[in-house]
Amino acid sequence: MTPLRIFILAILFFILYRLLFGSRKRQKVTDTHSKGQKTVPQDTLVEDPVCHSYVPKRQAIQAVKDGETFYFCSDKCCKTFLEEQGEGR
Ligand SMILES: [Zn+2]
Repeated sequence: MTPLRIFILAILFFILYRLLFGSRKRQKVTDTHSKGQKTVPQDTLVEDPVCHSYVPKRQAIQAVKDGETFYFCSDKCCKTFLEEQGEGR
């Protein structure tokens, strides 16, 4: 009598576990799918070290100084930065 009860309980537990596990797996798949559409790294803002304004990386003017890349809002800021760095030290 008792072994039969345990057997039935075990089957019920197994079915319950499978149902829970299966539904969770399906939700995870849809989650990752919607996340993939959200993460689009495009307009990264970079700070202009001269006038301290933020410019989208794509539109910014780049200058490499001592292996470091700096971003500027305009050609004028870029020139000012390079001149200051050259004369200051
Ligand atoms: Zn600027």
